[in-house]
Amino acid sequence: MTAPTSPAREAADACPGIARPFSAADGSIVRLRPAAQPVPVGALSQLLDVVAGQDDPAIQLTSRAALQLRGLPDPLTADVRAAIIATGLVPTPSHELVRNLVSSPLSGLDGGGRCDVRPLVAALDEALCSEPALSRLGGRFLFALDDGRGDVVGETFDLAFLATAPDRGVVLAGSRPGGWAVPLDEAVPTLVGLALEFAERTRGGATAWHVDELTEPLGPVPTATATPTPAPARPLGAVAEHAVVAVPLGLLRRRHVDALARVADSVRVTPWRSLVVEQGAAHLAALEAAGLATHDGSPWHRLHACTGLPGCARSAVDTRAMAAELAPELPAGVLPVHVSGCERRCGTPSTAYVDVLAPRSLDDALAVIHAAPHASPHAAASTAPETA
Ligand code: SF4
Repeated sequence: MTAPTSPAREAADACPGIARPFSAADGSIVRLRPAAQPVPVGALSQLLDVVAGQDDPAIQLTSRAALQLRGLPDPLTADVRAAIIATGLVPTPSHELVRNLVSSPLSGLDGGGRCDVRPLVAALDEALCSEPALSRLGGRFLFALDDGRGDVVGETFDLAFLATAPDRGVVLAGSRPGGWAVPLDEAVPTLVGLALEFAERTRGGATAWHVDELTEPLGPVPTATATPTPAPARPLGAVAEHAVVAVPLGLLRRRHVDALARVADSVRVTPWRSLVVEQGAAHLAALEAAGLATHDGSPWHRLHACTGLPGCARSAVDTRAMAAELAPELPAGVLPVHVSGCERRCGTPSTAYVDVLAPRSLDDALAVIHAAPHASPHAAASTAPETA
């Protein structure tokens, strides 16, 4: 019997892709999903070529570890479309919107975690793209593969695998308590099976975007418990012989990519607007000189902003300019600080953060930060993409 689903949504999601650009105030937005796999630095350079004619050309890193271009021609022209496809970042056009995977970015590199999830990432991406029915999942359905360290299982996922030992783990569905214990080689088939069930239950007009929006829980009765793992600190700088570098405001610019090209063939994009550079530890000084943040003391380690003006018509504030003003003044603290142009609060962290909403001046913003050094009541409230 098919379980009923909630009519929680009245329309399909509008997350952008090359086949479905989003029309914003400053032109088309296209999002590219690396699916937690390495991104060739050459492909990043090609993407910057696509936006080279803009006033402030950049690739946006999203809170789901995707790459986003905005300010593109609206409608998208054939030559721009071809140039984006030529990067190789849209390997399976039929499934481009559903390759929403995040994984422990340092898995297999730093000796942390309980297993190396990189083979699972590749296998899940391949399995997803091999199932025609899964092209219906939609652009907001998120898979998380956590090697046991607890970094990405804290994201707001739809389906997740959390390693509990080198050869096994637990599959989780949304915020449902408990999950299903599986050996490592059963993780991908189990995730795909649950995704297929979701796709089947939401076909034919039902428009739930997320597992948690189903009236009846997904999958069989859970058989395993998953002990919550406190999210670890996110390292910045050298990690063994590798490097993690934060990208200020998640805007990857030409000088960043040129510096990366001198030290690595590819990078991994994290959900936290940073990049993992294999063998990059020896090159931290050069990466820092190019404007990437390489230590916890950098304001760009914890200062974020939504798109704001001029790209987003909903905003009354140039949020990025405000963040740039804030950076040298940012008081010491541990929580991320997020500047939003309106109450949608696009791109906020999934952890607690300081909520700087539409500040009228630098003094206003600083007053909010000084007055609210602790968790915002809006922490983890928004997973809205920056498409506006
Ligand atoms: S929060 Fe989102 S919708 Fe609001 S101003 Fe920022 S980018 Fe635009």
